[in-house]
Amino acid sequence: LVLADKKKIIVILVPLYNESRTITQLYSELCKVVNNLSNYEFKFLFVDDGSRDDSVRLIEQLKLQDHRVQLVELSRNFGKEIALTAGIDHVEQSIDAVMIMDADLQHPPELIPDFIKHWEQGYQIVASKRLSTEKIPLLKRFGSFAFYRFLNAVSDFKMEPGTTDFRLLDHVVVEELKKFREKHRIFRGLVDWLGFKKCFLEFKAPERFGGGAASYSYKKLIQLGVHGITSFSLFPLKVAGYLGVIISSMTVLLMIYMALTQYVWNVEVYTPLAYFMVMNTFLIGLVLSCLGIIALYIGHTYIEVIDRPLFSVKRVLK
Ligand code: UDP
Ligand code: MG
Repeated sequence: LVLADKKKIIVILVPLYNESRTITQLYSELCKVVNNLSNYEFKFLFVDDGSRDDSVRLIEQLKLQDHRVQLVELSRNFGKEIALTAGIDHVEQSIDAVMIMDADLQHPPELIPDFIKHWEQGYQIVASKRLSTEKIPLLKRFGSFAFYRFLNAVSDFKMEPGTTDFRLLDHVVVEELKKFREKHRIFRGLVDWLGFKKCFLEFKAPERFGGGAASYSYKKLIQLGVHGITSFSLFPLKVAGYLGVIISSMTVLLMIYMALTQYVWNVEVYTPLAYFMVMNTFLIGLVLSCLGIIALYIGHTYIEVIDRPLFSVKRVLK
């Protein structure tokens, strides 16, 4: 008796927030792509991030016709990063890979076979880079440039600029991701932090399907940037300390110079106020240094509190 090879199962994970305009279109495009990949079994896992429109009802309807459709409905809007997390947490252990994509068709479903091909070649994370589109406002582009530059300078792992959440993750990576319990998170950052064998595909993002504005406002992007930096680097916490050390050492040198020129070489005369000013600045430096020392401890506490897994194992050979 020969058992037929079990088909690999791929979950297509789509977080969505008020996407009723695109769901039907997205579903039909996904079906088209998936029908040509008969060697795999697919599931469509939609995470509704507290939509206030018809999204949930539409997915319920799809589920009636298609048993592959699954829905995780969040109680309110938590933001995309958390919606993605909820999706990952609900992926069963038996699946082989998760394909993450946006609902607005900016992540072209036609590319899914490409992702799968690279995955089959052994890449555990197939990430993607969005080719620069002229549509992105200058300010956003600059902001993103500055964010990646700064983050890569102050943290000890690399986050590639221009990458998106349009990614395929092997089930090993998915299981590792489930271990992250930190609350302020940039999903992509966590995936990058994990390492694993990774490659990038490039794609051009079309306009948002069905109109509507991208839901990330400048305010949200700034928040995301701040979270990204604070969750992967303690540098901002240490700034006061560095400043303090610089100020105190400069003022000590200055004080020595003043004393030498006035009392040893007798070439200069300073008022008592000048000495007082320098002394005062020295004390400010001292206070900042002490803040820096406190920050070191806070930093340790912070690291412990976010309780990130210590390591992620790629393979064990026994
Ligand atoms: N999204 C979400 N929760 C939110 C905002 C967005 O789940 O609070 C989903 C949205 O439905 C879409 C994806 O995240 O599937 C990307 O959102 P959007 O297109 O607004 O962002 P952008 O394309 O600018 O990254
Ligand atoms: Mg979009």
